[in-house]
Amino acid sequence: MSDPFHIVCPHCQAVNRVPAVRLGQTPNCGQCHRPLFEAHPVELTQASFARHIERNDIPVLVDFWAPWCGPCQMMAPQFVQAAQLLEPKVRLAKVNTESEQALGAQWGIRSIPTLALFRGGRELARQAGAMGTQDIVRWVRAQLG
Ligand SMILES: [Zn+2]
Repeated sequence: MSDPFHIVCPHCQAVNRVPAVRLGQTPNCGQCHRPLFEAHPVELTQASFARHIERNDIPVLVDFWAPWCGPCQMMAPQFVQAAQLLEPKVRLAKVNTESEQALGAQWGIRSIPTLALFRGGRELARQAGAMGTQDIVRWVRAQLG
């Protein structure tokens, strides 16, 4: 038996322990009973960012974006599709750098969109510029080996 994965609930931020075999079986949160994965990126704020980055046992891919950024708007549906392909092995999340300026500054985001891949609270890699679904998936898988 492999160890259970810690998965942070995107709805109530509770840390769930999910057995590896159950990860792909649309597990629900033990606290709020909503799905832990919905094939959709999670919107993160200053209040929830660190918890998701540090407490998830799966890698977290963050799209740093802004509402006024044209390439960000173009990439948004591609990023949703990437979530459908990468969950539950990877959590996909978004940070609106306009409403969450402190997070953008903390992580030194200089251009948007920027994708950053985190595991265990540390940044593994980042990539600036809009990407299509397949490029996002390929890039993430390349980083994770
Ligand atoms: Zn929950």
